[in-house]
Amino acid sequence: MDVLTQPVLVLNATYVPVAIRTVKDAVILLILRKAELIRDEKDLFIRSEKLRFTTPRIILLTDYYKVPKRKHKLSRENIFLRDDHECVYCRRKLPSSKLTLDHVIPKSRWEEIPREKKPKEYHTWENLVTACRDCNTRKGNKLLQELKWEIPENRSTNKRRFPQFSVSTQLVEKFGWADYIRI
Ligand SMILES: [Zn+2]
Repeated sequence: MDVLTQPVLVLNATYVPVAIRTVKDAVILLILRKAELIRDEKDLFIRSEKLRFTTPRIILLTDYYKVPKRKHKLSRENIFLRDDHECVYCRRKLPSSKLTLDHVIPKSRWEEIPREKKPKEYHTWENLVTACRDCNTRKGNKLLQELKWEIPENRSTNKRRFPQFSVSTQLVEKFGWADYIRI
């Protein structure tokens, strides 16, 4: 693969991954000072007549704070994908057929939770997680506090880690993006 067409992870000013662009685009953004270099490959150079750059792998858009709207449709399979097919409660990895969708705050308890302590709406990415059947049954209509259960910080409650785009494990590993994208 030509270096210039290799992918670069683009973060917004608050370090949220917002796009994947080519090395060529990234270099232009760096030259225009619209981006800062977060990670590069130090021994792989891009040369032009006047310039010599190390190959960027992650850049940050210094004046861009938005997070693009998630393109993924809210669906059972997309929630499983987001959670890596892992039950957020017992951390078992299972095939889709053995997984269920759990509403973290159950419908029957929704009204009693103060607005500032719950997502805007009931059936949303923020209130849905992947759970195995056992955990889902055990949870029933209880709240996490009542069970003394927790959802790990880097999981669904953390919107920063929601995938904004699909990216393969292979790319994340190959280009060293793991600090910013959960795989
Ligand atoms: Zn489970």
